[in-house]
Amino acid sequence: TKENPGEPEFHQTLNEVYKSIEVAVEENEEQYRKDAVLERLANPERQIKFRVPWVDDEGQVQVNTGYRVQFNSAIGPYKGGLRFHPSVNIGIIKFLGFEQIFKNSLTGLPIGGGKGGSNFDPKGKSDREVMSFCQSFMNELYRHIGQDQDVPAGDIGVGAREVGYLYGQYKRLTKQYEGVLTGKGLTFGGSLARTEATGYGLLYFTNEMLKANNETLKDKTATVSGSGNVAIYAIEKAQQLGAKVVTASDSTGWVYDPKGIDVALLKEIKEVQRGRMSDYAAKRESAEYHEGRGVWQIKSDVALPCATQNELTLDDAKLIVENDTLAVSEGANMPTTLDATKYLQDNGILFGPAKAANAGGVAVSALEMSQNSERLYWTFDEVDNMLKDIMTNIFSKLNTTAQKYEQDKNYVLGANVAGFERVVEAMQSQGIV
Ligand code: NDP
Repeated sequence: TKENPGEPEFHQTLNEVYKSIEVAVEENEEQYRKDAVLERLANPERQIKFRVPWVDDEGQVQVNTGYRVQFNSAIGPYKGGLRFHPSVNIGIIKFLGFEQIFKNSLTGLPIGGGKGGSNFDPKGKSDREVMSFCQSFMNELYRHIGQDQDVPAGDIGVGAREVGYLYGQYKRLTKQYEGVLTGKGLTFGGSLARTEATGYGLLYFTNEMLKANNETLKDKTATVSGSGNVAIYAIEKAQQLGAKVVTASDSTGWVYDPKGIDVALLKEIKEVQRGRMSDYAAKRESAEYHEGRGVWQIKSDVALPCATQNELTLDDAKLIVENDTLAVSEGANMPTTLDATKYLQDNGILFGPAKAANAGGVAVSALEMSQNSERLYWTFDEVDNMLKDIMTNIFSKLNTTAQKYEQDKNYVLGANVAGFERVVEAMQSQGIV
C-alpha cells in the first residue's frame, strides 16, 4: 500500500488472493522468497497511461485518460478487456488485470493477463462522439498491442460498437488485418458465441457446482443484477437450463418480475434501443420497478451478481443467508466484498468466484484468436461445446485443488491456488524476468 497508495480495489484483490494461496506458498516458501515470486506477480510488467483528446458534437475538445496495464505474460500474450466508465483509474485497472492473470491461467489456454480502459463515459454520447474517442484512444494504444503481444477485448462500456471503431483505427494505422482485438463483429473476424460466452459460461460453471452438490438449476429461482452483456446471457442460459430469473438491474434501479424476465424484451431494450430497466418495466405488466439497489432482498435459490465490483455487501450476504439461498456465483469481477464472501462461505453457501465462474468470456476470446490465426470460422455449436468443456474443466480443477488442500468446497481457494500454480511454474521456468 505504501508503494501504490490510493488503489483500494487492487489492494482488496491482492489481499484476497494472497491469503487464500498461503497453503500452496508454504510448501515452497524458501524458493518463492528467494525468487521474489509474490513481489514479481504483484508488479505489472508494464503500465501505460496516456492522454486521449477528442472533439464533442459542440466542437469542444474533451480530454480523458487512457490506461493499459500489461500485467503478466508468463503463459501467453497479455489478454483482458478495456473498460470505459467514469470510475476508471489505475487502481481499478490493476485490480482487474491482476485477477485476469489467474482467470486466464484457469482456462488452460495460452493467454497472459492484462487490462485497460478509460474514464470516458459512453452513456449519452452520440455514435460520432464514441467513434472520435475510440479513434483517439487507439492512436496511442496501437503501439503497445498486437496479435502476439497484447489482445484487448470489451468490458463495461465497451461492446461491439466500440470494438468495431477501435479495430478500424488499428487497421488504418498499422495496415494489419490481424486478431488484435476480440469481441469483433461477425463480418470482420468475430467468433460466434463470443457475445453469449461470459453469461453462458457462468451458468455452465454454476450448474457443475450444483451438480457436485447433488443439485441442478432445474426449477430453481435465480436473482441476477446488471442488465449488460454478462447479465443478459446469464439470464438467457439460466432459463434454458430450467431456472426462473426474477430480477435484473442497472445503476439507476432494479426490476422484480415474478413471472420471469422476458429476455427478448430485455435484449430489444438494452441491445437495440440502448434503454434502461425503467423502460423494460414500462413495457412488461408483471414487472415492478424500484429506484436504487435492492436485488438481493428477493428470495432465490441462486444469486448471480453480474453488474460491477463490490455490489454485494455484508448486509446483502446476510439477506441471502436468511433466504436459504443455495449458491452465489459471480458473473461480474469481484462483485462480492471480502467480508460478504467470508460470511457466505462460513454459512455454507456454495460460492463460485469470478475468476473461475466468469472465465467463459476470455476463453472464447482465446478461441476467437485461434480462428483468426487459422483464418477460419467455427460454428456456434463447436464454440459453445468447447466453452462447456472449458467451464466443466475449470470447475473440476477448483474442486480437486480445494480437496488436495483439505478445504473441500472452498472454491475461492481452489481457483486462486490452481490459477497461481500454473502461472508460477511458467514464471520459474523462464528465469528472473
Ligand atoms: P456492460 O457495460 O454490458 O453492463 C454493465 C451492467 O452493470 C449494466 O447494467 C450497468 O448499468 C451495471 N453497472 C455498471 N456499473 C455499475 C455501478 N457502479 N453500479 C451499479 N450498476 C452498474 O458490462 P458487462 O456486462 O460486460 O460487464 C459486467 C461485469 O462483468 C463487469 O464486472 C465486467 O468486468 C465483468 N466481465 C465481463 C466480461 C465480458 O465478457 N463482457 C467477461 C468477464 C467479466 P448502467 O447501464 O446503469 O451503467
